[in-house]
Amino acid sequence: MTDVDVVVVGGGPVGVMTGLLLAQRRLSVRVLERATEIYDLPRAIVMDDEIQRVFQHAGLLDGLREITTPILGAEFVTPQGEQLIGIELPVELEWPLGLHPTVSYYQPQLEAFLRESARAAGVDLRLGIEVGEASQDEHSVTVRATTLAGDTESHTGRWLVAADGASSPIRKQLGIDLVDQGFDQGWLVVDVELSRDVPTLPRFVQQICDPARSTTFVPGHKSFRRWEFRLLDGETRDTMIDPDRVWQLLQPWLSSADARLIRAAVYRFHAVVASRLGEGRIFLAGDACHQTPPFLGQGLCAGIRDSVNLVWKLDLIKRGLADDALLATYDEERLPHAAGLVAHAADTGRLIDQLSGRQPEGDGLDAAYGGSRPFPILEHGVLYGTHPAIGRQLPQPTVGGRPLDELLGNDFAVIVDDMSTATGISADWAGLATVVEVPIATLPSTLPRGGAVIVRPDHYVAAIAHNATELDEASAALLALIRTT
Ligand SMILES: Cc1cc2nc3c(=O)[nH]c(=O)nc-3n(C[C@H](O)[C@H](O)[C@H](O)COP(=O)(O)OP(=O)(O)OC[C@H]3O[C@@H](n4cnc5c(N)ncnc54)[C@H](O)[C@@H]3O)c2cc1C
Repeated sequence: MTDVDVVVVGGGPVGVMTGLLLAQRRLSVRVLERATEIYDLPRAIVMDDEIQRVFQHAGLLDGLREITTPILGAEFVTPQGEQLIGIELPVELEWPLGLHPTVSYYQPQLEAFLRESARAAGVDLRLGIEVGEASQDEHSVTVRATTLAGDTESHTGRWLVAADGASSPIRKQLGIDLVDQGFDQGWLVVDVELSRDVPTLPRFVQQICDPARSTTFVPGHKSFRRWEFRLLDGETRDTMIDPDRVWQLLQPWLSSADARLIRAAVYRFHAVVASRLGEGRIFLAGDACHQTPPFLGQGLCAGIRDSVNLVWKLDLIKRGLADDALLATYDEERLPHAAGLVAHAADTGRLIDQLSGRQPEGDGLDAAYGGSRPFPILEHGVLYGTHPAIGRQLPQPTVGGRPLDELLGNDFAVIVDDMSTATGISADWAGLATVVEVPIATLPSTLPRGGAVIVRPDHYVAAIAHNATELDEASAALLALIRTT
């Protein structure tokens, strides 16, 4: 007997999103958070289209749009503002995932929205509960916890997700190391809220490659704006967060008459990834298992990818449609993906130093915005075949006036050009997949006409088939990965 299906430790954005997605799939979930209030200072500021798609699937896109603003472009510039390399992101374009590639937000607003949505979905979110030791046996995990009043209590779940942040006590308890990718820089992060329009501010995210000091600018949601200033040798936290010093640094862009200072904080930007993502029934997610320099705006995004990956697997197991062995693919899929992103972000940070002449030239501009370096894809796990679309997010065109995802359901989907191809899906897939007829010509041209695409519940392409026979083979191979017995 357990209290709930899943105990989540940590009520930050990753823990709450995990709880929300589990509850929407009708798993019972309790989220335990030691703080009594949402952390009221912004850290994450941008979100990519894959993560907006998660909100869309959760029925939260309208609410998300109210608290986000599209980012119009991103560039590396000289101290004089001349573009070295960059990418424009026009809002009127039809983007592959059917959503704007990057939007900005104010993290405390996003977290409030997530918590409200999670509670509405039935998540038992408990604040002021500090989790201590976790123990597990063959069937369950139990955590000991302390309330604000000092009482001790225990919470038992079939599984435990530790989304307990960068210093994750659960990761430490499990003795899981963080593998350092060799990036460690001190930066001052400054957030302001404009009190009047300042038309001279950049419209794009900028990495300002200034030999005197690398600087980042991010146009935030509505009137929020962010600057990040690299600390120079000898500069300390205390001197840098002094408001007079902060306004002096901001002086090329604005003065205190233009904006209110929300906060100034010094961070060490790290690039670390856990050596493994859990043990037995305990899984790490979010900053607990990877921390990235923020140059690609991917820390929270990577954490939500963890949530989504775990949630559909736990759901299938709970419903008896998959074996526990499926959970081994969490590490296989998420570790290399997260490590690839962290490495990319670290190289983007190094590139700023190279372009400002503070470091010798490196591998060229591939890690820049608009550079040639591809985003990581899934390379292992619940995938079958070698088609280049496999392991990537399925594009989301509008089909019959509706976004494609609305036709795909919650589980696997088999998109066929013609229903006759779907004779290849055996009865064993009943309950696991929705078969949908969609003209494959509406999807990108690399997908086979007359064939089929097997899409995972997280919208990654699992397999491509050119005909009914190949679909039969692919579906049997995938089924063997999901259900070993
Ligand atoms: C300057 C900066 C800029 C960033 N920009 C971006 C960006 O643009 N885009 C992006 O995607 N990411 C960005 N990030 C990263 C992003 O902020 C983090 O990845 C994200 O907040 C991590 O969420 P989390 O839920 O994993 O961890 P956290 O937000 O740290 O939440 C962990 C929670 O666990 C709780 N907890 C810990 N221990 C216990 C315990 N024992 N018992 C109970 N509760 C516990 C904590 O109180 C906390 O609430 C940025 C980060 C920084 C610092």
